[in-house]
Amino acid sequence: MSVQQLSDLFGPGSELEQLIGRFSPRPGQLIMAQAIEEALLDQKDLVVEAATGTGKTLAYLLPILLHAERAIISTGTLNLQDQLFNRDLPLALKALGIEKETALLKGRSNYLCLHRLEQHGQDEGIRDGDWAEDFSAVSAWARHTLTGDVAELDTVGTDSGVWPLVTSTQDNCLGSECPLFSKCHVVRARRQAQSADLVVVNHHLLFADLSLKQTGFGEVLPGADVMVIDEAHQIPDTAMRFFSQGMSAWQVRELTRDTLVACGQASGALAILRKPIEGVRSAVDQAMARFVDLPAKGEFAKIASTVPQLEALIKALRQLEQALSQVADQSRDLSQCLERASSLEKRLGHFVAGDRDHIRWFSNRNGRFSLNLTPLDIATPLKEIRAQTPATWIMTSATLAVAGQFDHFTTRLGLDDCRELTIPTPFDYARQTRLWLPKDLPEPSSPNHTQALLEQVTPLMKASQGRAFLLFTSHRALRQAAVWLRANTDFNLQVQEEATRRVLLERFLSEPNSVLLGAASFWEGVDVPGMSLSVVVIDKLPFAPPDDPILEATIKAATERGERAFATVQIPHAVLSLKQGVGRLIRQAEDFGVMVIGDPRIKTRSYGRIFLKSLPNMTEVGEIDEAIDFLYGQFHESDA
Ligand code: SF4
Repeated sequence: MSVQQLSDLFGPGSELEQLIGRFSPRPGQLIMAQAIEEALLDQKDLVVEAATGTGKTLAYLLPILLHAERAIISTGTLNLQDQLFNRDLPLALKALGIEKETALLKGRSNYLCLHRLEQHGQDEGIRDGDWAEDFSAVSAWARHTLTGDVAELDTVGTDSGVWPLVTSTQDNCLGSECPLFSKCHVVRARRQAQSADLVVVNHHLLFADLSLKQTGFGEVLPGADVMVIDEAHQIPDTAMRFFSQGMSAWQVRELTRDTLVACGQASGALAILRKPIEGVRSAVDQAMARFVDLPAKGEFAKIASTVPQLEALIKALRQLEQALSQVADQSRDLSQCLERASSLEKRLGHFVAGDRDHIRWFSNRNGRFSLNLTPLDIATPLKEIRAQTPATWIMTSATLAVAGQFDHFTTRLGLDDCRELTIPTPFDYARQTRLWLPKDLPEPSSPNHTQALLEQVTPLMKASQGRAFLLFTSHRALRQAAVWLRANTDFNLQVQEEATRRVLLERFLSEPNSVLLGAASFWEGVDVPGMSLSVVVIDKLPFAPPDDPILEATIKAATERGERAFATVQIPHAVLSLKQGVGRLIRQAEDFGVMVIGDPRIKTRSYGRIFLKSLPNMTEVGEIDEAIDFLYGQFHESDA
């Protein structure tokens, strides 16, 4: 396929135009598709920042379907994965008039594990416990599902305690020794993926596979000649998480529970194992008692005084391991519990010992406690992975560049020799938006900052009759804002933490005068086109909290490389987050709106320029009245 033919595909009168009602040829989309085609032909890795509205999914799908023998496409979330597989991919194949074998593959925790279902079906504690109803719903569905994809069973909530009992982990899967291997849903999905020409995965699965954390099935994604990473701005953090080693209190407790269940399969096992199981349970309880009051995450230094409890847990795991080795040959489940006990004991030992290439940290979220060892350098293992595969890597996202530069991204990932491309926005930001930076606000660290900002923006949100997103950098500020707005305004508030994301967005769209208050997860991936969203307020420049251990590890690694970490790590990280937040406002050519950034540092600090230079070209207004006039003008035009 020549460049000319790609231009036919994306041009006026093309098949795409027939298939997509609202399709209009976009120069940026064609440029991106051509660059990808050239990268594939030259086998050169490519990093593309493609602004919202470029149509980047089709821009990579078409050249890939034309040129790749076998391609893997990785997206940021399960939702995006489903959307790409069920909507964009069939459309691209139709536009090209070709057929390909395609597969959708999710992580193993998304598929029913028949062995664990059977195992727990015999456990009276579960049949009569809190999850009894969910368990019988899963059992009934298990009899007829063809895919075993847990998303099919939407009557059982994703947070139900039944799912960890009936899905597998790398730890507890029996692999080829499983009696139900021939019927296994995970195995079937992976086989389909292995033989497909194009597989759609998500970053978690991709990295689990690349970092060989899901062994037992062999390599799932071998032999691809193209790897496309969409939402690539997430890759540095995802890679760091996956090259980390962790162990959680949940894993230890699950091991004791599974060992107890497995005792039923071997005579005399319970007599040997009961005491060591109790020993592990009591050791993990004692360690946990020391961790209860800890913050959500932090460096190992904060829990250094718990080393004696952790050592006691190592000792208890060793005793369980010894006891298991006496009975392990009596069943596959028991021998697998032995492997798990030994692996947990080693990981915990490694954590307590520590080494200079990793940062040690804990996480203590929603009652789940884990210990983690995170590598300071991810470029080296990523380079090794890329060297082992013949694939051309295409990385793309709407937010990758900082003031037009990609270095912070390419350096961190070790992409030394890749092509770079920026596709500018197809939207007319100067016409469609106004940027208002309120004056006289206190410093963001001031306790009065949130209220002062709300007092200034409330008249603007009244003028827009709600239709506003307030994006916060902390949950504390978000809660404070909800209290103030409830006491001083009559907006319909949709507050993160008070309902699920889907419910909040539905209410935001259906209830008039709505204002949505969101923190972290609302800064990206939320798509509200049209007049429903006319104002976005960002409270502060989104610098990551200084106590984030992963960020600390990244800063430490940059400092060791001789860099000024504030400039090479913290600013780029915050710029990309800000670009994500700002990206919520304009989703299509007809949209308009006012962007408010309530952080005086954007004007008063020298680094503020880097933020402003990285944002789309919005027309700045000095006073709120200009922003309100702009909104009235636009509403009037839309009514006319
Ligand atoms: S092979 Fe693993 S995932 Fe499949 S049924 Fe057996 S234990 Fe479960």
